[in-house]
Amino acid sequence: MRVIYPGSFDPVTNGHLDIIQRCSERFDQVIISVLKNTKKNSVFTVEERIHLLKESTKDLKNIEIDSFSGLLTDYSRKKGCSTIIRGLRAVSDFEYEMQLALINRKTYPDLETLFMVSSTGVSFLSSSLVKEIASFNGEISCFVPKVVEEALREKFKRGAR
Ligand code: ADP
Repeated sequence: MRVIYPGSFDPVTNGHLDIIQRCSERFDQVIISVLKNTKKNSVFTVEERIHLLKESTKDLKNIEIDSFSGLLTDYSRKKGCSTIIRGLRAVSDFEYEMQLALINRKTYPDLETLFMVSSTGVSFLSSSLVKEIASFNGEISCFVPKVVEEALREKFKRGAR
């Protein structure tokens, strides 16, 4: 089975990688799709986010990295893949994710959203938390892969906010 794992990945964290690794073991192919989100203020460009994802997943064989804009339902139709993976960190993620899954199913009835519960060691992790710590020059090496740590250091050295 092929699955799509969509998200902002601004940047990819060990939390995302936990989900990616586990999907890679269970599914034939995992399409990681970076959302080109014009509304959200992102620190990394889509190209940079794709590069960081590629570097962080290069040891996994069945990964495709792609990007999309617009509706996830249109994108999954175009890709010919109707299974979406979303990660759940805490109960607080649940309401929004449930809403999203139901709306997506309404507009694309064949679309199935599967939720994967994060591993306990990374359930507190989010890209925004990591960016905040990095912006104050805090220690982030246990939250993100080395390549992301270096990219974040470089960004904030140049004064990204
Ligand atoms: P979005 O902006 O769509 O929330 P993110 O890049 O933040 O995208 O996350 C993409 C997906 O990964 C979401 O389903 C999110 O819940 C999940 N995710 C993010 N961090 C973690 C984590 N630490 N553990 C498990 N899932 C996570």
